[in-house]
Amino acid sequence: MGKAELSTVVSVRKVQKYYSGDILKAVEEIYVAAGGPDPKGKKVLLKPNILADLAPERAVTTHPEVFRACAQYFQSRGATVLAGDSPALHTSGFKAKICGIGPVCEELGVKWIDFTEDPIHRKGFKFARILDEVDMVISLPKLKTHELAYFTGATKNLFGLIPGLSKALLHAKYPNRNAFSAMIVDVMEAIKPTFAIMDAIIGMEGAGPQNGQPKHIGLILGSCNLIALDIVASQIAGYNPMDIPMLSHAVKNGIQVKDINDIIVEGGSIKKFKVKNFKRIPIDRRYNLIYMGVRYERMRRRFDRRPIFDHDKCILCEKCIQICKAEALEIKDGKIHIHDPNCIRCYCCHEVCPVNAIEIKRKVFG
Ligand code: SF4
Ligand code: SF4
Repeated sequence: MGKAELSTVVSVRKVQKYYSGDILKAVEEIYVAAGGPDPKGKKVLLKPNILADLAPERAVTTHPEVFRACAQYFQSRGATVLAGDSPALHTSGFKAKICGIGPVCEELGVKWIDFTEDPIHRKGFKFARILDEVDMVISLPKLKTHELAYFTGATKNLFGLIPGLSKALLHAKYPNRNAFSAMIVDVMEAIKPTFAIMDAIIGMEGAGPQNGQPKHIGLILGSCNLIALDIVASQIAGYNPMDIPMLSHAVKNGIQVKDINDIIVEGGSIKKFKVKNFKRIPIDRRYNLIYMGVRYERMRRRFDRRPIFDHDKCILCEKCIQICKAEALEIKDGKIHIHDPNCIRCYCCHEVCPVNAIEIKRKVFG
């Protein structure tokens, strides 16, 4: 017998505010309508997006009320619920406090897992050991823009199962948008997630994933099919999903979705859910036009958007230096200095800057 085809149903519910009762009801409906498997007696790992431990109002992290509803739902269906994440610059012992997820774990008896302890290797990637010990992985992303990937949702959120700074090393190993995006799809395939529930009540637009602005969308989405979910979510945000290399790579290779027209949206139409005036990351179409080779890489680095530092805003915390595995950054004369030929345009520095002192923009050649 051949492998069963993954469902392409994406369930969507309108939820305007972070009211726990409304969210729990939406999660219950979504999980059933999108064909989530019975979690009774299973060990379930919830993977929220905690890029940095920041207040929920910043819309950087999965909201604690969405996390709470998901944990309560799986517990009520007889699962043992665990949770964890591993932001790039947090080392062992990290516990999510400010974003509100840690306190919810304590309240509900959800065990918090340290992803940095004794990692395992699977399909060429280093992963948190817990992956070998759970029956189900549930991705709990936030709908956000992403300077490198253009969009981050259910699929990209799983990158956090790779512990700490190992993620930055992968940025250096897959140094352009297409290679990085294909690698993210490989990571998802290695993890084999069971389901995803996306917090799109308030998402992030503009310079995501950390320094954009909160944007009210008023939705929760769920699916067994993470690529289908991200395709629908990106369309709701106004993207053409085939402009997002991660999603176009998956569809071209028949990973989870063979044709975007096969996706079934349950609960309404994309047209009805579409959010107006969502500020997206501008798409660089040259990625699809120029062949991938050394010449391409030189061209890309020359013309692609690059990090520009605002020295007045910079507090010299050195987080950008710690995360830059291309060794493009140093402090010179009391300021952050970029050695441009080294920069691979991974934008990790922008992602971790706590004071929004790095803008990603095209350099004007004079
Ligand atoms: S991360 Fe931001 S604030 Fe910290 S040193 Fe770099 S530019 Fe300055
Ligand atoms: S300077 Fe920033 S964008 Fe350039 S390689 Fe380093 S982390 Fe990546």
